[in-house]
Amino acid sequence: MSASSVSLETLFNEGLVAAQQPAWPNTEAVNKAVSELKTLPPLVFAGECDNLKARIAEAADGKAFWLQGGDCAETFAGATADSIRNRIKTILQMAAVLQYGASLPVIKVGRMAGQFAKPRSNDIEKRGDVSLPAYRGDAVNDLEFTESARTPDPQRLVKVYHTSSATLNLVRAFTQGGFADLRLVHEWNKGFVKDSRIGARYEQMANEIGRALDFMRSAGINPEEFKTVDFYSSHEALILEYEKALTRIDSRTGLPYDVSAHFVWIGERTRQLDGAHMDFAKKIKNPIGVKLGPKTTADDALTMIKELNPENEPGRLTFITRMGAGNIRSILPPLVEAVTKSGAKVLWVCDPMHGNTYEAPSGFKTRKFDDVLDEVKGFFEVHHKLGTHPGGIHIELTGDDVTECVGGGEEISHEDLATRYETACDPRLNHTQSLELAFLVAEMLRDRKL
Ligand code: PEP
Ligand code: MN
Repeated sequence: MSASSVSLETLFNEGLVAAQQPAWPNTEAVNKAVSELKTLPPLVFAGECDNLKARIAEAADGKAFWLQGGDCAETFAGATADSIRNRIKTILQMAAVLQYGASLPVIKVGRMAGQFAKPRSNDIEKRGDVSLPAYRGDAVNDLEFTESARTPDPQRLVKVYHTSSATLNLVRAFTQGGFADLRLVHEWNKGFVKDSRIGARYEQMANEIGRALDFMRSAGINPEEFKTVDFYSSHEALILEYEKALTRIDSRTGLPYDVSAHFVWIGERTRQLDGAHMDFAKKIKNPIGVKLGPKTTADDALTMIKELNPENEPGRLTFITRMGAGNIRSILPPLVEAVTKSGAKVLWVCDPMHGNTYEAPSGFKTRKFDDVLDEVKGFFEVHHKLGTHPGGIHIELTGDDVTECVGGGEEISHEDLATRYETACDPRLNHTQSLELAFLVAEMLRDRKL
């Protein structure tokens, strides 16, 4: 495509069915929000998306590891300095540990600064005799169970933009301003190991990391890479009015990029081959992801590659598998084998959250820490057996001490869930569970090499 051949007016096929879209009450209000979004500056730059693509290409080659984490559903109320900082801190702490375990650079990606929309199994939520539209994320409506709160309001899309912008501003300040220095991150990890009963189990690895850092200091090594980190934003590209309004022609290349985030993915419920989400993903130049659930066949994966990355561009396509702990060892191998045999280059990432959700007796949606860990373990086993690279993990997490997933060293039980269950959608690992997972996964990565 040359600069003159791409026009945003005709780029997308508007005749296709888009699954999981809100029933906006009136088109005029949608048009108004879309016009406003179209005038606003990009949230990310196309060049940054290209940098990320180059790093994904390295990871697909086995030379880097991907860590993607954040809320299932961000909320406007949750975009506070404390909450954003705690999430970034958690991801950076995990990344430092994983980097050590894998002896590879870690690509840090937040499910952040745009993850405001949710696909739902049912359009309607029923409580007693009352039926209302399901909550579809703060991008669409409000969680409160009242008619007015649940009515989709397109002006919320404009608020998504501004909240994402404020979040990204803080992310950039934190990651570029010295807050994220690797030595400081290690001090936080030492704090976790020292102060919590659970952390003690990971003392040996924390000490090893400390010694590695001391060794470098003694050799006078003080690289710029210690002081600042690249941190990328990502979300599910779900509400197409929003994503299309933020798709712009890059002035350097004349090509279209979705400048709402560095990386966007297409979810398990919207990846129909003839659907509008696939058409959208095909047309943008960002690095993109696709979620693959347990029903995926090898043929599906190959067709997806043909559609989304026909030229086998390095770093373009990431498959995020979410099979469930009980399925991963049987369902993933044929997919990986077929893709490897085809010669296509993709990054394989494990989402050990979405195939392991169940309802606790108390009615809370939850996940078991051990299932999450076991799915990651199965993912590594499969790739090890097939000689392919287990490229990374995709985790729903928060930096706060919530009680949404059961298990882990704190032994959160079904009865404990009510104590601090705050998610607007799926249950997240809390700060401690996230760090534990990182140490345990790092051990797996390290031991693999021995
Ligand atoms: C999600 O990532 O929150 C999600 C809905 O995932 P999936 O599309 O894999 O179900
Ligand atoms: Mn989720």
